[in-house]
Amino acid sequence: MSTFAIGVDLGGTNLRIAAVDERGAFLERIALDTQASRGRDFVITEMCEAIRETVSKISSATLAGIGIGVPGIIDMDTGMLRESPNLPGWHDYPVRDDIERRLGAKVILENDANAAALGEKWLGAARDHDDMLMLTLGTGVGGGLVLGGRIWHGMRGMAGEPGHITVDPDGPPCPCGNHGCLEQFASATAIVRMAKEAIAKGGSPGLERASKEAGGLSAKSIYQLAMQGDDGAHEIYRRVGWALGIGLAGLINLLNLPMYVIGGGVAASWDAFLPALLEEVRWRSFVYRATTGPGRKTIITRALLGGDAGLLGAARLPLLVPEVGGHEGVRKRA
Ligand SMILES: [Zn+2]
Repeated sequence: MSTFAIGVDLGGTNLRIAAVDERGAFLERIALDTQASRGRDFVITEMCEAIRETVSKISSATLAGIGIGVPGIIDMDTGMLRESPNLPGWHDYPVRDDIERRLGAKVILENDANAAALGEKWLGAARDHDDMLMLTLGTGVGGGLVLGGRIWHGMRGMAGEPGHITVDPDGPPCPCGNHGCLEQFASATAIVRMAKEAIAKGGSPGLERASKEAGGLSAKSIYQLAMQGDDGAHEIYRRVGWALGIGLAGLINLLNLPMYVIGGGVAASWDAFLPALLEEVRWRSFVYRATTGPGRKTIITRALLGGDAGLLGAARLPLLVPEVGGHEGVRKRA
């Protein structure tokens, strides 16, 4: 009998659940509101109920397990969330063990951006590469590193936070405690902040006008303005590309991977930030310059799976054969 897995994308506002077969095809999928404000136990109960319902619809295959992508820092050893701004009250609670107990199935918790990276590796832009790094440009900047087809977790599962690489030592403060993180220049939040700063300084009439229109300033409206040739908006996306280029140049020098994938909502503004990104990467990374020939090219490309990357990557987790002494969250627990 073939097997299938449940993938869960547990966001602060949306809860998506899918049953996925071994080849990555969706068998069932549902979307709910997370209702995080009603508390942890409410959300876990709702989620378990929806998972049970989804599993019950599939009679043709055996459940391999449940992968859950969660925003925040996860301790892989304990299956607990260490920090999760979008899920207050979840930290230091045995989330994985609680769900395993309720459902009687193997559960793997994973950081949502790590899950998205694994999804793009499995079925998306990096499907032909075993090693890849993904940057997710959304409200914040997340990421994930996949080596040998598996998520690189580091010591306790906290690896893969490229959004908090310093790109400007004296830059704006970041909620992580640092100043000038990549996230402070390349997230949707940062793009709007930079537009407001430009308006306050004066000399950006296009941005000022957009800020007064219905809908106001957003990464999307600023992108549209940049594509129409507005200097102020263009300058902001140049800054996005500059920061991404600095971050990527360091990562390329460190890792020499065949592929770097950029996803998340801000990746839709690819045309606006790519020229500055490539300009920075070219002069800052000698490894990039040395890998431009055929057959050994460093590829920087857009993600392909959109919002499904995290859901598919989460489903992939229980389908991976456990590594001997490995770190996929399925190592034997005493
Ligand atoms: Zn930071």
